[in-house]
Amino acid sequence: MKKVILFGSTGSIGCNVIRVIRQLKGFQIVGLATYRNYAKLMKQARDIKPRFIGLVDREHPEKRSTRSRTPHVLYGEEGLTAMIQRARADILICAFASSVGINSIITAIRQGMRICLATKEILVSYGDIVMAMVKKHNTELYPIDSEHSAIYQCMESKPKDDIARIILTASGGPFLHRSIKNVRKKDVLNHPVWNMGAKITVDSATMMNKGLEVIEAHHLFAFPADRIDVVVHPEALCHSLIQFADGTLLAQMSTPDMRLPIQYALTAPRRMKSAVKNLDISKTDRMTFSPPDLKKFPCLTLAYEALKIGGSMPAVLNATNDMAVHLFLEGRITFQEIPRIIKQVMKQHRPRKGDIAAYKRTEEWARNMVRQYVC
Ligand code: MG
Repeated sequence: MKKVILFGSTGSIGCNVIRVIRQLKGFQIVGLATYRNYAKLMKQARDIKPRFIGLVDREHPEKRSTRSRTPHVLYGEEGLTAMIQRARADILICAFASSVGINSIITAIRQGMRICLATKEILVSYGDIVMAMVKKHNTELYPIDSEHSAIYQCMESKPKDDIARIILTASGGPFLHRSIKNVRKKDVLNHPVWNMGAKITVDSATMMNKGLEVIEAHHLFAFPADRIDVVVHPEALCHSLIQFADGTLLAQMSTPDMRLPIQYALTAPRRMKSAVKNLDISKTDRMTFSPPDLKKFPCLTLAYEALKIGGSMPAVLNATNDMAVHLFLEGRITFQEIPRIIKQVMKQHRPRKGDIAAYKRTEEWARNMVRQYVC
């Protein structure tokens, strides 16, 4: 029986992880953590009966009312690290919507746990540090992001020198064929293919999600920015491709359902039967591919720029975007202000290499810059 800790259990990916583990044999959840959705966390804990639960938000009003001893309740970011140290689990699945779990992930890497990573923000801000640790400790790191899972599956057992390019597919989001003028919150939160959390749905509409994924791919597969392409594929059946030196393309296709990359991260390199309905290729009437419109979606260009500059710049991109998206969701800035603000803050940042604490400070600086922009 493999013991699993799940961070971000109340979000869209977290709930899918629970569904996958329920129908797979051989996995047991021993720890659950969420940022602030305490009520849902407690409901999950009653069903799953983990040994530990974690609540990151220390200011949460429910905190003081928790008296029970099982499960053991841990608070704050330190609580996440304590859970990793005390639970002695085999696998950590991180599905937070931000880079909040970074220190606990480093602890899990040191302990030799398999890391299944759905949180791309971790690699965007701290990719250099995380990947160096993964290498040093010979840790298994499996992406849960559907595109990166696809690339991982295409690359498996192929000589890296034979692979010329990585090609990430993008659904194009809700504004692929629509104007982005006067966009309202409800237009953004209406994604045509994937049903996801609010942050990633906005990122998908601005195409910053794909930009973050380019940086994520750079770290996971050690490819430079100029060998990572993005192609728009609205049908979302092909989840990404690689191209070999001889021009041959290899693609991974399946029903678009996050339970598949989640399951593969848990069982790799083995494959088990899944509850997801198989893709019937004979009923697929068309698949289209086109280049992204960089004028309409400047966030994608900003992400490539941040990756090429390197050092702390991707952390600035990530934190600024995170803050701007939250302000948009609160109705305080417009959709088109998101890339403008990110560009402004990036311009004012002098990038340098640092450790986790330094990048955290940089992220805090970036968030403050966005607050100033709005006030
Ligand atoms: Mg993705």
